[in-house]
Amino acid sequence: MLEKIISQENVDAVKQIVGNGNRFVVLAHKNPDGDAVGSTLALCHYLRSVGKEAVVVLPNAFPVFLSWMPAADEVLFYENDKERCDAAIEVADALFCLDFNILSRTGDVCHSLESSSAKKVLIDHHPQPSEEFDVYISHPEACSTCELVFRVITALGGVEALTFEMAQCIYTGMMTDTGAFAYASTRKDVYLIIAELLGKGVDKDWIYRKVFYNFSVTRMRLWGYAMYDKLKVYNKYNAALITLSHSELMRFYASKGDTEGLVNQPLQIKGLRFSCFLREEQPGKINVSLRSVDDFPCNAVAAEFFNGGGHKNASGGEVYGTMEMAVERFRQALQKYKAELTE
Ligand code: 5GP
Ligand code: MN
Repeated sequence: MLEKIISQENVDAVKQIVGNGNRFVVLAHKNPDGDAVGSTLALCHYLRSVGKEAVVVLPNAFPVFLSWMPAADEVLFYENDKERCDAAIEVADALFCLDFNILSRTGDVCHSLESSSAKKVLIDHHPQPSEEFDVYISHPEACSTCELVFRVITALGGVEALTFEMAQCIYTGMMTDTGAFAYASTRKDVYLIIAELLGKGVDKDWIYRKVFYNFSVTRMRLWGYAMYDKLKVYNKYNAALITLSHSELMRFYASKGDTEGLVNQPLQIKGLRFSCFLREEQPGKINVSLRSVDDFPCNAVAAEFFNGGGHKNASGGEVYGTMEMAVERFRQALQKYKAELTE
């Protein structure tokens, strides 16, 4: 039996919102990952299965290795379809906000969300959500937002309500947010849920290959270059840094998602506890990805040095400025957290 984590009060609130409404928008954060895309699509499939109009709105594109997901081709992207996205948000009876804990994580969509009077239902696993939502299904103990969407759907309609398509989407997000069940997956409920998903016909090996064995040759060479030429190990701090400038990314024809997962690689080095990847998304804007192991809270570093946040062991942020500035902040973070990194 699954442990019940979502309160009956919240289940009832969602039941009422879905029952009373007809049109819904399901949203996730900027630079959507497997959990963001999987959870929004799964909930969208569910809402449609109970006769509602639903659409997924994402701030910008997702990596190509997620494009096989059922109904991925129907997602609206704010960055290139602002009018249709705003129109959908304007007429929505409720907005489902998935896999983020503060409206500003949706980038430019944020203004439209702020000015909407529709009820905002948060379904998320990041700590400390902001006070901008009406219903809070906020559970940092969940391995992924997909786990929570599984719980919401089955609380509303039982496992019978779960289709093969929903199961595929949910499995994908649970897999990507746990590094294929390597971390954030120690609760037995994760495996009970997977068992249900497999029962719906999910082919886990096929999904694994679709998502992880999907490199282009240029992506593989970019990773090789990053490992060989760009990885810097700070032995005194048990930390590592990889930087890739805009021109380096151009040189390897890098496209969206090509660096996804790269930040995890240095953690395979024995004794390493903290990994940082700085990617110059565009000249003057550095995207920051942080990963840590055990108790080292990389989200504290993200908040303090990189204007960001996230989970204890997976977080991120951004720096507006040069790569040198971003590297300098990383060095300052190492100084400040030296004791915690070496204890
Ligand atoms: P990634 O390194 O995969 O881009 O992000 C890892 C995690 O860090 C995300 O799932 C999210 O929780 C968090 N994160 C990434 N970028 C930001 C950011 O700019 N602000 C905040 N608050 N969290 C972020
Ligand atoms: Mn997530």
